[in-house]
Amino acid sequence: MARKRRLLLLGGTGEALRLARELDGSSRVHCISSLAGRTDHPVLPPGEVRIGGFGGRPGLVTYLMNEGIELVLDATHPFATQICHHAQKACEDLGIPRAKLVRPAWVPSPGDRWTVMPDIAAAAAFLRVHPARRIFLTLGRQDLAPFVPLAGANDGDPGDGRWFLIRMIDPPDPDTPLPPGEVILGRGPFRPEDETALMRQHHIELLVTKNSGGSAAKIAAAAELHLPVLMIDRPPLPPGEILRSVGEALAWINLHAV
Ligand code: NAP
Repeated sequence: MARKRRLLLLGGTGEALRLARELDGSSRVHCISSLAGRTDHPVLPPGEVRIGGFGGRPGLVTYLMNEGIELVLDATHPFATQICHHAQKACEDLGIPRAKLVRPAWVPSPGDRWTVMPDIAAAAAFLRVHPARRIFLTLGRQDLAPFVPLAGANDGDPGDGRWFLIRMIDPPDPDTPLPPGEVILGRGPFRPEDETALMRQHHIELLVTKNSGGSAAKIAAAAELHLPVLMIDRPPLPPGEILRSVGEALAWINLHAV
């Protein structure tokens, strides 16, 4: 029987999980799923799993060599820029085939009230001059710092300050500074009707989100409530092959696992 090709699957997304499930038991590929270790209780894929950073690009090069990795499928989140660039460079250095699986971005529908922001800092700066006071932040806990100085950033009236509904997967560390408001915990996918109810319940006036793509329940809810959305644009990808679905990724793996 032919030897299985050793595949590193960079994960942390639903797509990576689905891929690992598809590849479990494959006769052609031995899949090693890699997670950053950001969440306290990650959903673990089947098969071999490693957790934690590699130690930058040099650490990743060492790992790829030591583990005899022959293929790299980067299925990390569209906003996980560092690991994506490290993987591109490391694979280029070692001549290992690599591709990036990126789910399609959301696009506005007629009637949607989006303002596209180049990055998170720009979104926080924009809020300083926006009249919305009750703001739904659906960002990672590592993205909240630019919003903290908005506490009391008002027109001199303390009662006019902004209030944030902050959704994250895990509770923030107790010493992490947060914008003023309330933290709620939740892991998607969410249902549009629940998102609408949540936004209504908290009298939300504006949604801040990254253009992650995938389940668009909060986008649909904002549209239904005619709420403005600050849509944070995706960072640029490094050069290399782009795959748009789990099916395309499986085809790419099968093509290279010969
Ligand atoms: P990042 O900025 O690109 O990565 C920061 C560092 O985390 C990397 O340099 C690497 O550490 C480590 N890392 C990231 N992904 C890894 C993986 N799959 N396996 C091993 N190490 C990994 O990424 P991030 O934005 O912090 O996201 C971390 C993880 O969460 C990613 O795997 C991503 O798929 C997932 N995620 C991110 C978002 C988001 O909005 N950014 C949303 C949902 C899920 P070393 O330099 O030490 O190798």
